[in-house]
Amino acid sequence: MDPGTFTYNFTDDPSVLGRHQTYLCYEVEHQHNGTWVPLHQHRGFIFNQASNNPGFPEGHHAELCLLDLISFWKLDLAQHYRVTCFISWSPCFSCAEKVAEFLQENPHVNLRIFAACIYGYQQGYKKGLHRLNRAGAPISRMKYSEFKHCWDTFMDHRGHPFQPWEGLDEHSQTVSGRLQAILQGN
Ligand SMILES: [Zn+2]
Repeated sequence: MDPGTFTYNFTDDPSVLGRHQTYLCYEVEHQHNGTWVPLHQHRGFIFNQASNNPGFPEGHHAELCLLDLISFWKLDLAQHYRVTCFISWSPCFSCAEKVAEFLQENPHVNLRIFAACIYGYQQGYKKGLHRLNRAGAPISRMKYSEFKHCWDTFMDHRGHPFQPWEGLDEHSQTVSGRLQAILQGN
């Protein structure tokens, strides 16, 4: 991913407006002798398909593209996998519901979600986050360590180290507080 795209879309600063796309970076590990071993062939990033895409007349959210990918990989049912995704916006209710169903049908796959920004103002989004929590796919906020990990892992950074943007820690704290409030039912 181009570093400018990353910074623009993952900046958890509410004053940056106009970000209509959801970006999702993903990586997969499998369990081997009690430890998680990365599967480098299943690592990358995707973003939502716009609604004018002929393949998906209604559009296709990034989370659903990820489920398609996981199915496409045909992971070994006898093994255990952990998919970690870093997402610029938390999922909508419809995607949360589909992800939860997918996890129920695929017990060999675990999912962890780190979100840079939380859509939590509408009731549906809150319900979605609860649904994921109950399905064993808790959402955490992205903080410095996750932003840096994404930069180091998914960016075409050409040797440039991650430069946290101004206010990263404060915004990340705000997101964390909002997330906690939602998950505690407020
Ligand atoms: Zn969605």
